[in-house]
Amino acid sequence: MKRTALFVLILALLFCGCSPAGEKAEFWAMDTLCSVTVYGSDCSAAQRIAEDSARRAESLLGEEHGYLFFAGEDGQTLTLSDDAVRAVSLSLKISEWTGGAFDITVAPLSALWNIQEAVCPPSGDEIGEARSLTGYQGITLDGNRLTFSRAGMGIDLGAVGKGFAAASAYDALCLSGVKNAVLNFGGNVTVIGDKNGKGYQVGIRNPAGGIAGVVSVSDASVVTSGGYERYFEYEGRRYHHILDPRTGYPAESDLLSATVVSSDHILADILSTAFFVCGSEESRQLYERYFASDPSMIGAVLLSADGEVTVLGNVDFRPIDSSYSLS
Ligand code: AMP
Ligand code: MG
Repeated sequence: MKRTALFVLILALLFCGCSPAGEKAEFWAMDTLCSVTVYGSDCSAAQRIAEDSARRAESLLGEEHGYLFFAGEDGQTLTLSDDAVRAVSLSLKISEWTGGAFDITVAPLSALWNIQEAVCPPSGDEIGEARSLTGYQGITLDGNRLTFSRAGMGIDLGAVGKGFAAASAYDALCLSGVKNAVLNFGGNVTVIGDKNGKGYQVGIRNPAGGIAGVVSVSDASVVTSGGYERYFEYEGRRYHHILDPRTGYPAESDLLSATVVSSDHILADILSTAFFVCGSEESRQLYERYFASDPSMIGAVLLSADGEVTVLGNVDFRPIDSSYSLS
């Protein structure tokens, strides 16, 4: 009997040795808490790599000025770094595909609303003026050179910053030999590997509190955008940070949050913001039209205010909270 117990204990220890518990390190970057959890690799080296990627994203995408870039002194052009070109050209493509629901030139409106610090909404006139300086049709990207058609225009890379950082951290960590890891950049979750074939279980937050459900993923990003992330309240109304450039006001779709799962980490970040603005029906149509056959795209989970969950593509979603039901 004792022998059997000893044998079971040895087996258990051996099993633990084969799949070591993850080691986690946290750091502050991109104005948010970030973490990296690695399995079977040196955690401090992984932290250095992840932190370097986040710092590079901050400086390339202009974290110090709120991810906003306005035209240079000549009023018309901006020269982008090679790395920023991919983020900008993909943002521009999604701006076109969504007909401006997602719009990389939302910068004058973002600066006006200044959600981080605002205590009341801007006036209708101010919003109208800022809106007249937006419109992705007014910019042209030629190599590294971005040309604006009017002075006062700008680009906002706030919707893509964490995805950009995640993409470069993913590449650098893989290159350094990391086989299994989870990066969390302020709620943007990126996983490396498949956790010994099991897949990583990533929770999707219930905007009302707790976890709405779980997606199982390998080698991909799970990115959620929602109006509950950053906002201020004024006279009993909530004004959040994702704007609808077509109205100039915070987006008011049927969605509480939009989650996109893709192995293209930058696309996941851009598209979650875009789907949140578009709402469930328009997002479904966009998904079918542009993303259903994109090999990097795994799918999307859209949580609506009336408790419906729309699952697009092949994402493996398991609801946990009974207040949400699959549509
Ligand atoms: P995320 O938290 O990734 O959904 O991105 C939100 C950020 O994207 C905001 O803080 C703005 O910087 C930017 N943004 C807001 N509305 C839009 C929009 N309609 N199109 C593109 N970028 C936007
Ligand atoms: Mg985003």
